[in-house]
Amino acid sequence: MEQRNLLVTGGAGFIGANFVHYWLAQYPQDNVVVLDALTYAGNKANLDIVADNNKMTFVHGNICDTALIESLIDTHQLNTIVHFAAESHVDRSITGPDAFIETNILGTYSLLKAAKKKWIDEPKAQGKPTPEHRFHHVSTDEVYGTLSATAPAFTEETAYAPNSPYSASKAASDHLVRAYHHTYGLEVTTSNCSNNYGPYHFPEKLIPLIVTNILNDKPLPVYGDGQQIRDWLYVEDHARGIELVLNKGRIGENYNIGGNNEWANIDIVKLVCKVMNAKFAADVTLASRFPHAASAISGKTEALITYVQDRAGHDRRYAIDATKTNNELGYVPAESFETGFAKTLDWFLTNDSWWKAVLDGSYQS
Ligand code: NAD
Repeated sequence: MEQRNLLVTGGAGFIGANFVHYWLAQYPQDNVVVLDALTYAGNKANLDIVADNNKMTFVHGNICDTALIESLIDTHQLNTIVHFAAESHVDRSITGPDAFIETNILGTYSLLKAAKKKWIDEPKAQGKPTPEHRFHHVSTDEVYGTLSATAPAFTEETAYAPNSPYSASKAASDHLVRAYHHTYGLEVTTSNCSNNYGPYHFPEKLIPLIVTNILNDKPLPVYGDGQQIRDWLYVEDHARGIELVLNKGRIGENYNIGGNNEWANIDIVKLVCKVMNAKFAADVTLASRFPHAASAISGKTEALITYVQDRAGHDRRYAIDATKTNNELGYVPAESFETGFAKTLDWFLTNDSWWKAVLDGSYQS
């Protein structure tokens, strides 16, 4: 596709915003329309560094509003949708699944309906050829369910077996995307990725929660025995993976995107503690910038670790086999957890006004 006019749904969220930054830097000729409902997880400040870029337009709206999507496709001549918008926090899906069903299932259906009408039905009715288009759906490895410690990692052939309301809603949306390709010929791709981390990560998720709790000298909650294993993917590696799928992926296919970084939760927490102790020891200015971080200042952050009751239905292990994405598209993650986390920590230490505004709620105004 020569020039892309992209609709990025959920572009004010963690991964969506990082993707928008990445895309505008790589493809300055492309136009990007961000559509975001600005739920608790959406933060316009995540787009501050591209706010003055006249190739980026922000639209405050809901993906369930099919008429709005249709008018955006017309007004901005959109030929690409990269769909990040979702309710994304498993714990919230356990206490309140409604929003997950609405946004993740009905919202994805609304986008598919609008895309089919504008890219397939209307041109056909007017006797015109189907324009070049792409609907890329961003999904999760959680749709595959849970693995034992020794089971082989998830491939794109692994049967879906979602266990939480979150992963079930994502699985449903993946199936709808697939059906719109097989039934109507919509040109879709889907990527299923592992746990992301990096700048702009909302501090309810494990890594930013641990970092900001250390900086505020608060307990570091670890679910159950802390032996749940996750693969960790640096968010810019994820953006590059999606770029490869958009540029070279085969229509109708799923691609796994992973970080080759399997860690038990407790080991991640201990590593973050160790790195933060070392960081505070090496840079004495941090103690005056973060005077509340008493445990980090004294090099004893591990003492903050507190085991809490396990999450209901907590999956034991997720692991991604990205061989297909590697072989077909040349995808290789650039960051190890150590290098990606060093960048992430530097970002959180430099951008403390960002996470302080999230923690005190002022980001919503
Ligand atoms: P996030 O929760 O940080 O951001 C979601 C964004 O979507 C927010 O800006 C929110 O305002 C917006 N949004 C929510 N409901 C909306 C609606 N109805 N209409 C318009 N916008 C709406 O999520 P994230 O971590 O950036 O995840 C992005 C995508 O990646 C999601 O689809 C998620 O399922 C998937 N994913 C995330 C991870 C991860 O580790 N974070 C891993 C695998 C897959």
